[in-house]
Amino acid sequence: MTTSRETPMIAMRDVQKHYGDLHVLKDINVEIPKGQVVVVLGPSGSGKSTLCRTINRLEPIDSGEIRIEGELLPAEGRDLARLRSDVGMVFQSFNLFAHKTILQNVTMGPIKVRKMNKADAEKRAIELLERVGVASQKDKYPAQLSGGQQQRVAIARSLAMAPKVMLFDEPTSALDPEMVSEVLEVMVSLAREGMTMVVVTHEMGFARKAADRIMFMADGELVEDCDPESFFTSPKSERARDFLSKIL
Ligand code: ADP
Ligand code: MG
Repeated sequence: MTTSRETPMIAMRDVQKHYGDLHVLKDINVEIPKGQVVVVLGPSGSGKSTLCRTINRLEPIDSGEIRIEGELLPAEGRDLARLRSDVGMVFQSFNLFAHKTILQNVTMGPIKVRKMNKADAEKRAIELLERVGVASQKDKYPAQLSGGQQQRVAIARSLAMAPKVMLFDEPTSALDPEMVSEVLEVMVSLAREGMTMVVVTHEMGFARKAADRIMFMADGELVEDCDPESFFTSPKSERARDFLSKIL
C-alpha cells in the first residue's frame, strides 16, 4: 500500500536558531503545501522575521532542515542564489534601488540572475507593473513614488523572478494608513491566484480574508498552528488570548 502525497512547498524540520544566548527559533516543524497562504502572528520579538529570513537563508539556522519543494536549502554558492530567487521576499522597508528607475528595478533581477534578455524582461516587467497598478510610473525613480506605490513596485520586482513562494514581512507597517489597502489588495489577488505565501502582518482584516492558516509565535516557539476561524474565535493558549485581547 502506497500513499502519495504532494511535496510541500516549504518544509521546516526541527529548526533551531540562536542569536548568542537567545533561543530565537525553538524546534520549528511546519509543512506548507503549494498554494497555501499562511499568516504569521505574534508579539514583537517572537521570532517572526527570523522565521521568514531563515526560509530564504538570509539567516543561517543552527540545526534542522528547510526544504523548498523538496530541495534542501544550500548553505551558499550559486545554488543558493537560484534557490533564493525561488523565494521572493517583501520587507517593511521597500528597499528599491534609489538610483534605478521603477522599470530598471523590476528588470534587474531577471536580466542578471535569470539571464533573461532586456526586451523580454521589460515586457514582463510592464505586465507586472500593470498588474500592481503602477505601470504609468515606470520611468520615475523610487523617491518620486508614494510609499504604497513603492511597495507595489517591490512586489512586482519579486514576482519578476517568478518565485515559487512569496514571503512578506510586515509589508504595510511603514505605510501611511491610506496606502495600506492598495498593497493588501495586491496581496489578496496574489493569494487568490494560488501563490504560496507566508505573511507576517498585524492586518487582521487580511488574515481573516486571505489566510488559510494562522501560525502564532511567542518567544521563538510556534504556539498555535490552525485555521483562522479557530484561532480568532477560540485560541487555545493563554499567550494567544493575551495577544488577541491587545490587538482586536
Ligand atoms: P519579530 O519579527 O517577531 O519581532 P525577530 O525575529 O525580529 O522578531 O526577533 C526575535 C528576537 O531575536 C528578538 O529578541 C530580537 O531582538 C532578536 N534578534 C533579531 N535579529 C537579531 C540579530 N541579528 N542579532 C541578535 N538578536 C537578534
Ligand atoms: Mg519582525
